Amino acid sequence: MSCSVPQASTVLSIDLAALVRNYAFLARQVPKALCAAVVKADAYGLGVAHIAPALEGAGVREFFVAHVDEGLFLRPLLSQQSHITVLHACSPEVIDICFAHNLRPVLNSLDHISWVRSMAHLRGQKINVALQIDTGMSRLGLPPTEIESLIENPTALDGLSLSLIMSHLACADTPHHPANAQQRARFCHYTTLLPQAPLSLAASSGIFLGENYHFNLVRPGAALYGINPLFEQPNPLEAVVQLQAPILQIRTLNKGDCVGYGLTWQADKRHRVATIGIGYAHGFARRGAAQGCAWFKGYRLPILGRISMDSMAVDISNVPESQFQGERKVDLLNKTYGVDDLAKAQGTIGYEILTSFGQCSHRFYTNDSYSAKKEIGCLQHAS
Ligand SMILES: *Cc1c(COP(=O)(O)O)cnc(C)c1O
Repeated sequence: MSCSVPQASTVLSIDLAALVRNYAFLARQVPKALCAAVVKADAYGLGVAHIAPALEGAGVREFFVAHVDEGLFLRPLLSQQSHITVLHACSPEVIDICFAHNLRPVLNSLDHISWVRSMAHLRGQKINVALQIDTGMSRLGLPPTEIESLIENPTALDGLSLSLIMSHLACADTPHHPANAQQRARFCHYTTLLPQAPLSLAASSGIFLGENYHFNLVRPGAALYGINPLFEQPNPLEAVVQLQAPILQIRTLNKGDCVGYGLTWQADKRHRVATIGIGYAHGFARRGAAQGCAWFKGYRLPILGRISMDSMAVDISNVPESQFQGERKVDLLNKTYGVDDLAKAQGTIGYEILTSFGQCSHRFYTNDSYSAKKEIGCLQHAS
């Protein structure tokens, strides 16, 4: 990746002030609980090196990552007083790295607990851990039989400093799904029988299930980045990203002319078409062509034909020609057409949209009052 962002590039702009306002909004929803930030998968594709310091500057002290290498990358970017929890600490090697680098592992089985106990014993120190219990999602965490055996034999935790018990909701984005209350009831049941520790159940959508889902700590990821945590309701969060692609060429098609690989789209009349510099190599899913569109000054530009690796065609017939004077970019995501809209068009969820765009575009950070002074990597900042 080059150190300057040429005008003619695909650019993902990330509004750090909007990110911080989203955090403040979520924290206000949970007045009695601590609001953590989940920054796994490079902060959902937005660049953890910028996202996490901005959030820390806004008061976040609890960060969650999935893999230990994400934790190792993040550790020097934050103050030692900020806590980093590693969700997938599922081998003795990983747990050992966590201890060595001030990362808190999440223990997901009795095996994990016994590994940590012997490590704590070897090191002669108490080790700070989180424990995850499975309350119905069957993904990670102690299954019911193991929870029960731990309840019968709590000495299995001797030598460990248990600073969080957590579980994860499978259906929090569907408020009336009976699994929510069921998982919550199991969580309450088990945690009253386990050794006492701060409790955490809710991620983004769980926050909006009500105060009795908040416990001591909530773990939003998606909502911080502007993904709607509410089912079929207006999004209370702000859009954080804008994605723009350059116009590479404009042409006029006559009736009968075709567009793109396979010549799958044919003009039924005269059309003006722009070829724009974004394709599936940038994370714009090829399957999303039919429903997809770009935007230019409020005009919707339907995608024509198949999406190529680095380009695609959009119909600009409705845009007055004069509008393009000097303007050489179109929007794929903006404040009014956001990740959830694009996700709907592509038959997926906002999470997948963000993580796919993150890797392949130039990222450009705006309103960065927290980390703009530190040049991170070789990407450019706006001031
Ligand atoms: C990803 C994840 C979160 C964050 O979920 P969002 O829906 O993005 O808010 C919280 N907790 C766990 C265990 C996760 O895996």
